[in-house]
Amino acid sequence: MSVKKDIIIIGGGASGLFAAIKAKENNPQKEVAVIEAQNRVGRKLLSTGNGRCNLTNTACSKTHYHGSFRKYVDTVFELCSVDRVINEFMKLGLMTKVEDEGRVYPVSNHAGSVLDVLRFRLEALGVEITCDTKVNDIKNKNNNFYVSTNNGELICEKLIVCSGSCAAPKLGADSGIIKNLKELGHNITPLSPALCPVRVKSDLLPSLKGVRVESKVSLFDGESLIKEEYGEVQFADNSLSGICVFNLSSILKKVRKPFVIIDLLPYFDKRYLKSIILKNKDIFNNLNIENLFTGIFVKKLGMAILKQAQVLPFSRRINSITVEEIERIVDVVKNWKFEALKSNDFSRAQVVSGGVVGNEINPYSMESAIMKNLYICGEAIDIDGDCGGFNLQFAFASGIIAGENV
Ligand SMILES: Cc1cc2nc3c(=O)[nH]c(=O)nc-3n(C[C@H](O)[C@H](O)[C@H](O)COP(=O)(O)OP(=O)(O)OC[C@H]3O[C@@H](n4cnc5c(N)ncnc54)[C@H](O)[C@@H]3O)c2cc1C
Repeated sequence: MSVKKDIIIIGGGASGLFAAIKAKENNPQKEVAVIEAQNRVGRKLLSTGNGRCNLTNTACSKTHYHGSFRKYVDTVFELCSVDRVINEFMKLGLMTKVEDEGRVYPVSNHAGSVLDVLRFRLEALGVEITCDTKVNDIKNKNNNFYVSTNNGELICEKLIVCSGSCAAPKLGADSGIIKNLKELGHNITPLSPALCPVRVKSDLLPSLKGVRVESKVSLFDGESLIKEEYGEVQFADNSLSGICVFNLSSILKKVRKPFVIIDLLPYFDKRYLKSIILKNKDIFNNLNIENLFTGIFVKKLGMAILKQAQVLPFSRRINSITVEEIERIVDVVKNWKFEALKSNDFSRAQVVSGGVVGNEINPYSMESAIMKNLYICGEAIDIDGDCGGFNLQFAFASGIIAGENV
């Protein structure tokens, strides 16, 4: 037998929990229910910001977003700005603070505080939360939604989809509902991992594993510069990682011939770098060349640079390095080129690029433009933000707007 509810929210994550609060606050007499596949709500939220939850960013604007909904995101933030999200949380009892680059965190430094204030408000409002219940199918008949789950069927007049997408499947992420939205008539842009390490081709990577260096990283399509970022690059077995690399990963799918170029000393020009190397040549002249970068880079990195520049063998004395070799070394330090590989591995991605196309959602209400009483929020939509709180800002803002308009 089917169970009737007034408003159903699929997914008890970032957008779903706020959508449920607002839906109930605005419709206190109606039955509002959250259906969550996992054994508890907000599992992913607990892992955000390395367990501290970077919940928004004071520098939020469309420049930090990608995807077909990007052109509507400023409208969403006019209705629900960063200040408003912070204020909504404050009303729930959460104190926040602003850190470097506008990143906002709870003062407790604990993602659990963010989830707790949302949960306690839902409890106080009397929103029904059903966990361990996965939605397998959605049908729309006679102006009602029929929501089939592993625990039976539910019927509702208004449905808010907050089921996220498939980034970080270990935390329960699943894109099944996006397929259902396609069956209901929505167009979906292909899903690909974003905010993730970028796999690159290089035999030298294993020897650099664990090395971190403040750099400028640039994404090129063949010879054309697409985007550059500053920050700490982390070298892993077969990939480059770090926030600056994550921010390039989001646009990788659009690039035909992707290359990542690293400038390992972005604040020094080539001429100055050459003079530094000549100075080191003098200071360390009798040592083996593997010590050339003493005082500049960790030894592993210095040795990899020399290998890449083909200045070998390491047993040579530093005073044997030629002017031509110094040119090659400087070129590697300032322009180390890696061929990048596109990936379909969602396991290390923080978000997904792709989803329901932007022009099929009304940014003033988050209602579907092709089906009345269906609302879509958060990562299920074709929009993804840079690292730094931009994704949760969109998830919370879209959830708040949907809940207020349902
Ligand atoms: C490790 C990690 C760290 C991150 N850190 C940050 C950060 O610090 N700042 C930031 O801005 N962003 C961060 N993000 C991204 C951010 O968490 C997401 O963009 C955001 O949670 C998306 O919100 P959402 O409501 O769309 O989806 P989610 O928060 O993923 O919620 C979706 C919910 O729906 C449920 N669900 C899915 N399918 C079904 C189904 N069929 N039936 C029932 N329930 C279903 C899921 O179990 C889940 O609980 C991080 C992501 C990861 C993986």
